[in-house]
Amino acid sequence: MLVFHTVADLQAFLLEKKGDIGFVPTMGALHQGHLSLIKRAKEENDLVICSIFVNPTQFNDKKDLENYPRTEQRDLELLATAGCDAAFTPSIKEIYPIEDNSVFEFGSLDKVMEGSFRPGHFNGVALVVKRLFEIVKPKRAYFGQKDFQQLAIIRQLKEKLNLPVEIIGCPTVRESDGLAMSSRNMRLTEEERKSAASIPKVLFNAKKLYKEMSVSEIKQWAMEQLAKQPLLTPEYFEIVDSSSLQPIKSWSDTKECVACVAVKAGAVRLIDNMVLFP
Ligand code: AMP
Repeated sequence: MLVFHTVADLQAFLLEKKGDIGFVPTMGALHQGHLSLIKRAKEENDLVICSIFVNPTQFNDKKDLENYPRTEQRDLELLATAGCDAAFTPSIKEIYPIEDNSVFEFGSLDKVMEGSFRPGHFNGVALVVKRLFEIVKPKRAYFGQKDFQQLAIIRQLKEKLNLPVEIIGCPTVRESDGLAMSSRNMRLTEEERKSAASIPKVLFNAKKLYKEMSVSEIKQWAMEQLAKQPLLTPEYFEIVDSSSLQPIKSWSDTKECVACVAVKAGAVRLIDNMVLFP
């Protein structure tokens, strides 16, 4: 696998290539969730590019940025084994040669959940994804449903800017106890990791139980279940329409709905979600 650190070198390589480019943007500390995106991209494209870039503009919390796990050597080995053709590991200056203060408008999509708990987060995501698309010019780009709201934002970014790329959402890959794989999981202590297993349990139970409760009852029940666990502090448990991401009040408000959750396990913030129906 080739590794490029600069835009110029990556683009010189891409200029020589024919066929469809599949692109997987990541922040590194790779796991099987990321590799499932590489696998899907390989199935559907002639060339697969993966970027590893811890994007400072999407971190609203300086400590979170400093503590974000960085395991580049291991990441490159995993990517090579997965059959990725090229990795792009740019510096901050390569991605942002001049300060970019663009402000994106996502209507109501970024006013809820992650958008309200992490001010500026999705604007930073949009900045980096737009810039990476301009550099790589992929035919298809792959994103995890694990970051459900991010996927909705990126789909809207594509529509609004009329970007010539197909956005493909891929299922969440989980650990054997159900915990959604995440780069942040490696920062959990043993005790926090044990408690974190209750996050998917609550989501799976919500899917089983939702017909027996009202929307507000299930939200309250889920928050209580999570708060009971040692070391867990739930931030939100929201039930939203899968397209508009607006919270619903009654089950009949929508035909498609997803439960989204954010929880702090010690100092580590984890998110997950589950489609309740259809
Ligand atoms: P990140 O490195 O966390 O920015 O994630 C890079 C991409 O991998 C994003 O599109 C994520 O949604 C996706 N991803 C992260 N974790 C998982 C997972 N457990 N299953 C599937 N995709 C994931």
